[in-house]
Amino acid sequence: MSRSVLLIEDNHQNRYLATFLLEKRGYKVWTAADGRHGIQLAQAILPDIILLDIQLPVMDGHAVARALRAIDSLRASPIIAVTSHAMVHDRERALAAGCDGYIEKPIDPETFVDEIERFAGFAPIDRAAS
Ligand code: MN
Repeated sequence: MSRSVLLIEDNHQNRYLATFLLEKRGYKVWTAADGRHGIQLAQAILPDIILLDIQLPVMDGHAVARALRAIDSLRASPIIAVTSHAMVHDRERALAAGCDGYIEKPIDPETFVDEIERFAGFAPIDRAAS
């Protein structure tokens, strides 16, 4: 059974790249382009992992992380911030808002999925199966 990832990201190119890399490794990927839609979708699909851009329209990623963390049914879903804010302060803010990890953009295709799995505490999916 494949694992599901919800990607909340407003940038089309980043959505495309992250989806490509995750699907290649056997993940089922759902996407939302803003936080409000992302929160609705998260409650509907209960994803195994949530990837969260911090710079988002409507609600910023920190507000989205806090809202997701307030939803009991999503307690088991790790939230990993993905952001171009390459500052220690932003990492601390993301973690304080309830994120379990933090990946910096630009996305590195060589390490992206491994980093996600490390933060999520998952053993890698059997690559032969994907
Ligand atoms: Mn963004």
